[in-house]
Amino acid sequence: MNTHYHGDHTGGNAAFGVDAPIIAQTNVRNRLSTEQKSKFFNRTTPASPKEALPVITFDQSVSVFFNGEEIKVIHFPHGHTDGDSVIFFTGSNVVHMGDDFFAGRFPVVDLEAGGDVEGMTKNVGDIISNLRPGVKIIPGHGPLSDAEGLKAFHRMLAETTDIVRKRMAAGKTLEQIKSEGLPDEWKTWGSGFIKTDVWLELVYRSLSAKRS
Ligand SMILES: [Zn+2]
Repeated sequence: MNTHYHGDHTGGNAAFGVDAPIIAQTNVRNRLSTEQKSKFFNRTTPASPKEALPVITFDQSVSVFFNGEEIKVIHFPHGHTDGDSVIFFTGSNVVHMGDDFFAGRFPVVDLEAGGDVEGMTKNVGDIISNLRPGVKIIPGHGPLSDAEGLKAFHRMLAETTDIVRKRMAAGKTLEQIKSEGLPDEWKTWGSGFIKTDVWLELVYRSLSAKRS
């Protein structure tokens, strides 16, 4: 199962696809089938070879009955990308968030592939309201987490987006917004791949794309 198209989550497809059918949301196969360019991250990803493409695709959701439990794969629109799925292992009460969750870090939001910061916030909020007690949560990046960890991530998304939204409403430029930074509370969240100033720019660009 691919949670989205990025190479660090689909790089094993060509090897695993020989023995097992690869399952993914429709947009994952579409993006893997063609060259993908990201100006923001200065990255070009060539089209994948045929053997690396998902062979079972779905638009909204699919269930796989395996290993004694129902595994629900549910598409959440426009969060990290336009093809994200979250995987619910219903018997063992484990949720794999894909890259809709970076534990304790600012996330990558692939705006050029249909990602959206507010969409990610909404999706994560919807998932939180349906968690069962004792759930284990696997993030796309960072250590194994739980409901508390996902709630902290959701609060970070909502509060830092609100800060950027208010600065934009006050007429501040991207450079001003970046130089003002974020409250100390969010300092350690910038220690991963996405630094604080890059996160502020992603939020700014995500909000700007909707205004225009
Ligand atoms: Zn990703």
